[in-house]
Amino acid sequence: MRRSPLPPSLRRVVENLSTLPGIGEKTATRLALAILRWPQQKAKELGRSIAVLHERVNLCSQCFTFSEADPCDICTDPKRDPSVICVVEDPGDIVAIERAGVFRGVYHVLHGAISPMDGIGPEELKIKELLERIDRGAGTDSPVKEVILANSSTAAGEVTASFLSDCLSGKGITVTRIACGIPMGMDIKYADPITLKQAMILRNTVK
Ligand code: ZN
Repeated sequence: MRRSPLPPSLRRVVENLSTLPGIGEKTATRLALAILRWPQQKAKELGRSIAVLHERVNLCSQCFTFSEADPCDICTDPKRDPSVICVVEDPGDIVAIERAGVFRGVYHVLHGAISPMDGIGPEELKIKELLERIDRGAGTDSPVKEVILANSSTAAGEVTASFLSDCLSGKGITVTRIACGIPMGMDIKYADPITLKQAMILRNTVK
């Protein structure tokens, strides 16, 4: 094996960064060198911000997004409609939909999509929690009236959306799927706000 010309501490940062999604060794080296060229204070602040992440950020016990408060700011916002739940794959998708500015309901984060090849079945996702949440709401002042399936239009996203629509049928709620605008195979967090807005407005009833 070739020996890295980088000093060990720099190599350690490169190795750590290259475990991130989409970051290869080349990019990791470029980022690590950029951090090394920063003033020391700035590099320390980056390290500290990463160090406190796991201590401060937890999952909202209602919608399962990442949040420092429980319930999160969206779940406790009185201006939002708790009778409409938009189901997404991960918290990054909420950021994208909020940027589009058309949705005033609440969210439910699945934390992934069904993918048997990767060993991810329905029980690995927050599906049971979604069904419990809907059952809990039934008979209260704010029962769930609609679930919008905003899963990505990838193969795994489609499988998950169809699994969910089966689980939700017979619960007396409207189940819709975001439509139009999101290209096939695209992860929704990379869609531009206009495309997402279109997809939310033109969503279709599944059942
Ligand atoms: Zn929440």
